[in-house]
Amino acid sequence: MKKHHQTGFDTDCIHAGSDPDKLFGGVSVPIYQSSTFAFESAAQGAARFSGTDNGYKYTRLGNPTIAALEEAVATLEGGGKGLATASGMACISTLFMATLGQGMHVVSTDSVYGPTRTLLEREFSRFGVESTFVDSSDLNNVKRAIKPNTKLVYLETPANPTLSISDIAGAAKLAHAAGALLAVDNTFCSPMLQRPFELGADIVLHSMTKFLNGHSDVVAGMLIVRDQALYAQLKGVLVQMGGTIDPHQAWLVLRGVKTLAMRVRQAQETSMKLAVDLGKHPAIAWVKYPGLPSHPQYDLGRKQMKGPGSMISFELKDGVDAGRMLMDTVKLCILAVSLGGVETLIQHPASMTHASMGPKNRKIAGITDGLVRFSVGCEDYEDLRNDLMEALDKIAAHKFTHNSDAQGI
Ligand SMILES: *Cc1c(COP(=O)(O)O)cnc(C)c1O
Repeated sequence: MKKHHQTGFDTDCIHAGSDPDKLFGGVSVPIYQSSTFAFESAAQGAARFSGTDNGYKYTRLGNPTIAALEEAVATLEGGGKGLATASGMACISTLFMATLGQGMHVVSTDSVYGPTRTLLEREFSRFGVESTFVDSSDLNNVKRAIKPNTKLVYLETPANPTLSISDIAGAAKLAHAAGALLAVDNTFCSPMLQRPFELGADIVLHSMTKFLNGHSDVVAGMLIVRDQALYAQLKGVLVQMGGTIDPHQAWLVLRGVKTLAMRVRQAQETSMKLAVDLGKHPAIAWVKYPGLPSHPQYDLGRKQMKGPGSMISFELKDGVDAGRMLMDTVKLCILAVSLGGVETLIQHPASMTHASMGPKNRKIAGITDGLVRFSVGCEDYEDLRNDLMEALDKIAAHKFTHNSDAQGI
């Protein structure tokens, strides 16, 4: 895209990274489904490998379709350079591999995406990396956990699935004072609702599987950084470890990004109404949604996020058994993990996404057995409301005699 510095977010979603194709003028970025690129001469090949010619060589090292996506997402985050990866976990493992090593320490939000925590505790621990998980919605916990060997502070905000919000600007100050980097998993907000660089983060990352792609048909990730040396370090690790994205997968995400703003707006509007409806229903114990004043970090959310998003967590009064009944009764809402797609999805973290954490760590992180995570999609509000209310009315009328444990689901 020609540089228009004043363009808005909706415009950038559609145009960033997408120039009409130079060969035939195709408006959609071509899919360069090629593993390798021909050189015109031996001298040109040598120049590409020595870096004096920045043309393409081999798709793991770089590809025009992937580059278009990297530019698009980096623009949406407000600048920097993007590195697209084969999955969100490939971007998180690349980040840890590039910034941590023997004897180093990371402080992380406790209710992070389950596999992020498992990766540190089960895999990186084998290479001498220490990790501490804290409730980062209270900055004092982050401060207390930082040690002389802390090299990375890792926030997920709002966190998964508790929707706890952590102060990015405050954590950036703490991390930088300790000589550590701050990384923020921005998956739940997408750059439409939160721009961590503006609050001092050094690294922003996404599971593009979620809002950026938005159609529940691709698994992909993205790292964005502003510092050139850090970019080179991350790219080196990504290329060596091989977690790179495929050009076709990149093209699908680029296509999804074009409607990001519209999707997020629609889902958020519906979420606000549904969160209020849910809060009034007698079958529900509590609702946690950043748009409700009852959210414990409501003011912080309003300050650092541009909107409350479309993820809602709630607890049913009758716990696990009522949760199971809800998931088996809804018809329009789909029982599936993942989030951020146009379809509304409902899931039970204790038995699904966060089962690997174990009951003790789940309890500490506030992931209760009856907690239901709801990712609101772009269907009509009335249809979603009717689907949920019918199921909740059945639950309210049902006599629950016992409650099995979470593993029973
Ligand atoms: C899904 C998710 C991930 C992992 O992404 P994949 O694309 O599934 O590898 C990481 N962080 C958050 C917050 C997620 O929701």
